[in-house]
Amino acid sequence: MHRIVFLGPPGAGKGTQAATLARSLSIPHLSTGDLLRGAVAAKTPLGLSAEGHIRAGRLVPDSLVLEILGERLARPDAGGGFLLDGFPRNLAQAEALAQRAPLDVVVAFELPMDLLMTRLTGRRTCPKCNTVYNVVTQPPRVTDRCDLDGTPLVQRADDRPEAVGTRLQVYRTETEPLFQYYTTQGILRPIDATGTPAEVASRVRTAVG
Ligand code: AMP
Repeated sequence: MHRIVFLGPPGAGKGTQAATLARSLSIPHLSTGDLLRGAVAAKTPLGLSAEGHIRAGRLVPDSLVLEILGERLARPDAGGGFLLDGFPRNLAQAEALAQRAPLDVVVAFELPMDLLMTRLTGRRTCPKCNTVYNVVTQPPRVTDRCDLDGTPLVQRADDRPEAVGTRLQVYRTETEPLFQYYTTQGILRPIDATGTPAEVASRVRTAVG
């Protein structure tokens, strides 16, 4: 069974790699960012509470994130393993996860800060299937259209420069301590996240084993 976490700063390519790896291992790709954006789009009470935090680049309160992820983890397809992308993001979340499921491996994406800025501000996303593109490094075949379903691509509100700075700051203070937490448990596998998606994918495969 594979119980995997992808840890790393926003813009490191976790979502792109998670989609590929989850498909090849036949496990669900659970992105709390995608789950939360889905709740915002559906205007559920949880989505309405989360929206302002996401837009500003802050973390959504743990209680809301744990609620939406708990529901998703309880679905039968997650019983045979999962790939978590964007969760946990702080120690409280990591401890809540540990109560629920032991992890096999935490893949830590390492990338210099200046590359993160370019990746985040160039990112475009398909609002229908969540496929991620980059106007500079990974453009779609037809400008501003999803390769898979032709939907017009959008820029996430929190990929605008105003929110990007906050997200990187939050990452440093809240999420980076998890490197130490998982190193202590002996399950952290750092990878170099620079290079093409194919190059990174091969490092991810090696790290997952
Ligand atoms: P992401 O798509 O992973 O970059 O997440 C986008 C935004 O959703 C983050 O900036 C947070 O506002 C929120 N979010 C996603 N995952 C979490 C989490 N595990 N804890 C708190 N907030 C989260």
